[in-house]
Amino acid sequence: MSSHTNGANGHTNGHANGHQKIENTSTTTLADIPKSHTFTAKLPADPQFPTPLDSHRAPRQKLGPRMVRSALFTYVRPEPTEEPELLAVSKAALRDIGLAESEAESEELRQVVAGNKIYWDEGKPEEGVYPWAQCYGGFQFGSWAGQLGDGRAMSLFETTNPDTGVRYEIQLKGAGKTPYSRFADGKAVLRSSIREFVVSEYLNAIGIPTTRALSLTLCPKSEVVRERLEPGAIVCRFAQSWVRFGTFDLLRSRGDRDLTRKLATYVAEEVYGGWENLPAALPSVEDKKDAHLHPARNVPKDAIQGKEGAEENRFTRLYREITRRTALLVGKLQAYGFMNGVLNTDNTSILGLSLDYGPFAFMDNFDPAYTPNHDDHMLRYSYRSQPSVFWWNLVRLGEALGELIGAGDKVDDEIFATKGVEEEFAPVLIKRAETIIDQVSDEYKAVFLSEYRRLMTARLGLKTQKESDFEKLFSELLDTMEALELDFNHFFRRLSSVKMSDVETKEGREQTAERFFHHGGVTGLNETNESGREKIGAWLDQWRQRITEDWGTSSGDADSQRRESMRMVNPNFVPRGWLLDDIIDRVQNKKERDILKGVMEMTSHPFEDGWGWNEDVEEKYCGDVPRFRRAIQCSCSS
Ligand code: AMP
Ligand code: MG
Repeated sequence: MSSHTNGANGHTNGHANGHQKIENTSTTTLADIPKSHTFTAKLPADPQFPTPLDSHRAPRQKLGPRMVRSALFTYVRPEPTEEPELLAVSKAALRDIGLAESEAESEELRQVVAGNKIYWDEGKPEEGVYPWAQCYGGFQFGSWAGQLGDGRAMSLFETTNPDTGVRYEIQLKGAGKTPYSRFADGKAVLRSSIREFVVSEYLNAIGIPTTRALSLTLCPKSEVVRERLEPGAIVCRFAQSWVRFGTFDLLRSRGDRDLTRKLATYVAEEVYGGWENLPAALPSVEDKKDAHLHPARNVPKDAIQGKEGAEENRFTRLYREITRRTALLVGKLQAYGFMNGVLNTDNTSILGLSLDYGPFAFMDNFDPAYTPNHDDHMLRYSYRSQPSVFWWNLVRLGEALGELIGAGDKVDDEIFATKGVEEEFAPVLIKRAETIIDQVSDEYKAVFLSEYRRLMTARLGLKTQKESDFEKLFSELLDTMEALELDFNHFFRRLSSVKMSDVETKEGREQTAERFFHHGGVTGLNETNESGREKIGAWLDQWRQRITEDWGTSSGDADSQRRESMRMVNPNFVPRGWLLDDIIDRVQNKKERDILKGVMEMTSHPFEDGWGWNEDVEEKYCGDVPRFRRAIQCSCSS
């Protein structure tokens, strides 16, 4: 068991309150922050380069693409970058890692995040930390894709923030080839790097668990070949864990039972902070008859203390916790209208983080069939499919862990652990694993829906939840938005400034309805401004009644409190596709590097009314999405 509080307890992601302006009091430099490498210390290295020195002495070509077995990583080194230009550093990231704010200006940081310095020295090979690339596989668009791995990402080291106890693995994306680069170049283009940098910090700011981004570096001397030549860039990103569902998938495809158990143990102990942080076993039928139930969760005391039950052993509890984290993530993504765009199992985090940003998008006009991925013809990764696709990925994970969860209390029997499943035990094991996955699907749905509901309730300004809200408020609203082609996130923000006195009468409601229209009026098929006023007006009436129930017949004070509470969960700034394109154009083509500072202010504090940076740009970025730039799609090439 590890001594730090990674995972469950030491979770520092922002909460959806927009006011997480916790000061950075750190004076620690990058050179001085503590550095660890539990991942490489606890898990097996590529047998071809078992130590950092073996890898370091190998010429670069030797570290190129190949199949790597019986290992979870390879020691690799970044390619140096000539004349790196540090375009932006996230202040929130500096704080959360435990770095002084002044490090944004330091030469050391500039060189490290460009891949020009590592914390390891050939003269003292036993000390320091050598970078590594993880080995994983994945199901892509539903088909098994074999070995993938960090083809252009390299982890430099882990560091634990002494104030929060949270440990992060810091990595560079776009710093060159690894054994997992397959046919590609190990590089990233500026365009996609800007997108990843901004969205990582944005999702964190609105309370969605995500991998983070510390910095964005332009590599002016590197030209990267995509559909055309493009400037290269490196994002320094960090996360409590970069392990993916696909990491387990690969081990399963190779029948590597031993490593599956090792990795699951690593995830429980190092990522989730210990087995005892996982949920207790659900009570079995027998347990329910037991009079000595744990008062808090209606669970037997033994189970709380981690005794292996015949039905649920510790690996089942791990699977359930991963499921719960994933379900929480999905509830949040759906409530804010965010789509990853490529939810392959290699892009699905073991810690329920939103991960790997390619053709992602926030919803503009509400359209459940929208997918931001240009190549997603089957709409597999569309908004409405996201919850079921995450579950599909979780079933693959359940299969990869199937033997461990199906073994019940025999999981530590020597013969099972070392030799495998005995023939007569196999049917019992399979049946149990299937039953568990089936039960966990109910837990997934319940957690996802309750999180979605919690956030929608807050976004609508309600204090309580009523059974009828789902039908009468949520579904009605979404149907109305879809029919009238209204902007999803603008709707909530604009609703946050509607006063109860605005919507008391039918006329008031229909007038208020116009605030939700696009500049050019209603565009939905067979809809007019008039039908728009009517539909929104009718919905506003339902909403008004529920607000009054929850907040009382509006004294001005309660009503302004309600509006304030809504503004704190309904962001004013949302990094939509069209404005990311605008930012990319300005930075890349017009060389307006300075705008990234302002954009990062908006990104880190998206609930503000203004940022005192540039009124025109702020207004443009928070305003109506130009008609022909809504619902943009991206290709996977990045
Ligand atoms: P993605 O769909 O971007 O998450 O990538 C899927 C896989 O392709 C991962 O293993 C990536 O590391 C790898 N990959 C994507 N782009 C590149 C690149 N330019 N160079 C090397 N590997 C890449
Ligand atoms: Mg990926």
